[in-house]
Amino acid sequence: MALAEQAKRVADEFEFGKEDVRKAVKEFIREMDEGLQKDGAELSQIPTYVTAVPNGTEKGLYMAVDLGGTNFRVCSIQLHGNTTFSLTQSKVAIPRELMVAKTSKELFSFLAKQIEVFLKTHHEDHYFSHIRRRKTGDQIKEEEIFNLGFTFSFPVQQIGINKGLLMRWTKGFDIQDAVGKDVCALLQAEINELHLPVRVAALVNDTVGTLMARSYTSPGKTGTLLGAIFGTGTNGAYVEKLDKVTKLTSNKDAGDYDKSTGEMIVNTEWGSFDNSLRTLPNTPYDVELDAKSVNPGIQMFEKRVSGMFLGEILRLALVSLLKDPKIPLFRDENSAQNDVHSTTQIHEDSPLWKQWGIDTSFLSICAGDQSPGYRMTRQTLDKDYGITAVSAEDAEAVRVIAAAIGRRAARLSAVAIAAIVIETGRLNSSSTSAATTEKKESVEAPRGEGSSVADKDVIDVGVDGSLVEFYPGFEDHVRQALMEIEEIGEAGEKRIRIGIAKDGSGVGAALIALVAGRVG
Ligand code: ADP
Repeated sequence: MALAEQAKRVADEFEFGKEDVRKAVKEFIREMDEGLQKDGAELSQIPTYVTAVPNGTEKGLYMAVDLGGTNFRVCSIQLHGNTTFSLTQSKVAIPRELMVAKTSKELFSFLAKQIEVFLKTHHEDHYFSHIRRRKTGDQIKEEEIFNLGFTFSFPVQQIGINKGLLMRWTKGFDIQDAVGKDVCALLQAEINELHLPVRVAALVNDTVGTLMARSYTSPGKTGTLLGAIFGTGTNGAYVEKLDKVTKLTSNKDAGDYDKSTGEMIVNTEWGSFDNSLRTLPNTPYDVELDAKSVNPGIQMFEKRVSGMFLGEILRLALVSLLKDPKIPLFRDENSAQNDVHSTTQIHEDSPLWKQWGIDTSFLSICAGDQSPGYRMTRQTLDKDYGITAVSAEDAEAVRVIAAAIGRRAARLSAVAIAAIVIETGRLNSSSTSAATTEKKESVEAPRGEGSSVADKDVIDVGVDGSLVEFYPGFEDHVRQALMEIEEIGEAGEKRIRIGIAKDGSGVGAALIALVAGRVG
């Protein structure tokens, strides 16, 4: 069989058609409901205690800190109240010895120290007037205290807007005495030791931050419905009716929260949608990727959708073709076609032979390559992947398979977006969310310029992450799939506006601190 036909055969394995999408949406909705009712469901549906989304008129100066894997970021955010903001930021690498310190105090006092340095550098007046007041015994003014949003990217069991118990460390951290403790309280204790005018007002999940940031900056009258991340991993958080979050409303031990809006943001943790593979596609490449991963059987949706995995799926698909010496992919025509390594143009140290060897950004290069004879794709294969003298036919074969993987990821992403749009009933209503007040101005028209979608009918979705930002045509594929879903159709698809939430983590955390400050 010619190479082109072989490539098409593999690409077809990644087909996720209209009926597949529809079935998966139904399953997603079922799992959403299940997760709202009980713990331990496939979709965790974690209540965040954030009960309102911003509308762009919020004002004030807030702080945000972000403890990711390698860096600690501190920033202050001035919300101007007209959907714009200014952000000042500093970043330090976390010393390795603190990641495995004997006591959590060592790590958290380091974090508090960074906040102090930041305040001294960027908010000198504020900092010193606070110190003066303390020395003279004058009363500390409430407005001098910074409300801070704490983005903490480790598994926590959130029990209040600024309370969360560390379940376990990941990403190389290991400080035993912190496990089971409230990380906000640990940080606050160290801030207090330094007498800083800072209150840890909110514990923030990055997806919720994306939703909040988008809702503040997005034009239009309605609040944002969904914040979604398509980066290394994938996840989404959305605005749910409080009375549907029964596992929270029926739990007498649940922490305090503002019930007046009748809504709460729920963190779906949709990376684990359909772990039992009722509706997700499962090619031989998906099976192999999962089997060789550190967490087989877990995060099955994420393994088909997010940046960490798409490059590896492509690699496994290409290696499967290379295993058959009769398939002329990357083959030197003049050599005997009987042994994989000796007859290919692939360097033996090529990343193509190593797990995680292909980065998902390569899929973006393939999808965006319009150069004659796919020069860009061929150059990248040569330069980054040690594959020399790639023919235009080879490049075309790689592109066809890569495109199929990217398209499938986008169509699966549409499943999650569609399920949330349908399940929340937004298609049936054009009313403003109860949790946000009306905006004065209305700017940008939703997708499909010149469309007749009234501002109040827009269903706003904020997204973040390199995949959605840089993969050419990702949104188009999402939209095509959205249109194919009966409940949405062309009319519904037009109402869905998808926009990037820039600087989501900082601004989002500030906005959650603001909301929390109002409540507390
Ligand atoms: P994070 O999710 O870790 O905050 P990003 O949103 O930048 O960070 O996502 C990083 C992931 O995106 C990595 O898995 C990487 O392979 C992938 N990626 C980076 N650049 C691109 C690109 N141009 N196109 C598609 N995926 C990309």
